[in-house]
Amino acid sequence: MAKRPGTHIPRKRFGQNFLVDQGVIDRIANAIGIQEGEHLVEIGPGQGALTERLAPTGCRLDVIELDRDLVAGLLAAFSIYPGFKLHSADALKFDFSSLAEDGRPLRVVGNLPYNISTPLIFKLLENAAIIQDMHFMLQLEVVERLAAQPGGKAWGRLGIMAQYHCQVEHLFDVPPAAFNPPPKVQSAIVRLTPWRASPWSQCEESELRKVVQAAFAQRRKTLRNNLKGLIDGAALEALGIDPGCRAETLQLSQFIEIANAVNEQT
Ligand code: SAM
Repeated sequence: MAKRPGTHIPRKRFGQNFLVDQGVIDRIANAIGIQEGEHLVEIGPGQGALTERLAPTGCRLDVIELDRDLVAGLLAAFSIYPGFKLHSADALKFDFSSLAEDGRPLRVVGNLPYNISTPLIFKLLENAAIIQDMHFMLQLEVVERLAAQPGGKAWGRLGIMAQYHCQVEHLFDVPPAAFNPPPKVQSAIVRLTPWRASPWSQCEESELRKVVQAAFAQRRKTLRNNLKGLIDGAALEALGIDPGCRAETLQLSQFIEIANAVNEQT
């Protein structure tokens, strides 16, 4: 086993809460279920808590770390593995398609800095075609929004766009004590698996995004009010959708129908 990088004072601005509970690390590794020869991508390897489970598997492993002070330790610990490559870069600006040149789908993993998790997930959803699956440690509240179902407060833009692209599974929760320093919030592990055969009818993604954004702009307002300018009440009724209802009661399939109707109008 490689030597772990040395002591590093966790930096708040990089969202550094390092995993220290080996039981949780085991559960994450088991949930991922790595097979030799796969192509893994770890976002934010930090001090290597997860990396030391990923690197010795005989897989290609690209890690992307923003904090330059962690780079030397990571290289010292993991360069012995032939498949290991470190990218000293910002994952939010990283070109993930540049990793797909070997034709193997990417398995993306990360205990994500919570301040960048939502924009990063949206960025990765744009690359869903080259991704086999993603396993992330996130704030529990974000996992609940990703895996939400219609009818509750958690149902909104994040869950709808994620579920349009992926199967979403809330795997298990992780308490603050599993990290150093412990975060103020509960965390959870989520698996996102891009659909190979989507259960949804297709629509223009930009149109879906526009409709969902507008529909939830003011959660207490009716659909008719929030969607003014995009589609009128009569057109919603023609789709069998009550214009007087609120966005949080609509199914994903109904958002897709509205997006297609808006697209046909323009
Ligand atoms: N994987 C390690 C663990 O589980 O102990 C570290 C997790 S820590 C929550 C998040 C890591 O992401 C830190 O190493 C941090 O420096 C890194 N990070 C923060 N922002 C990043 C970004 N924009 N791109 C890549 N890495 C980033």
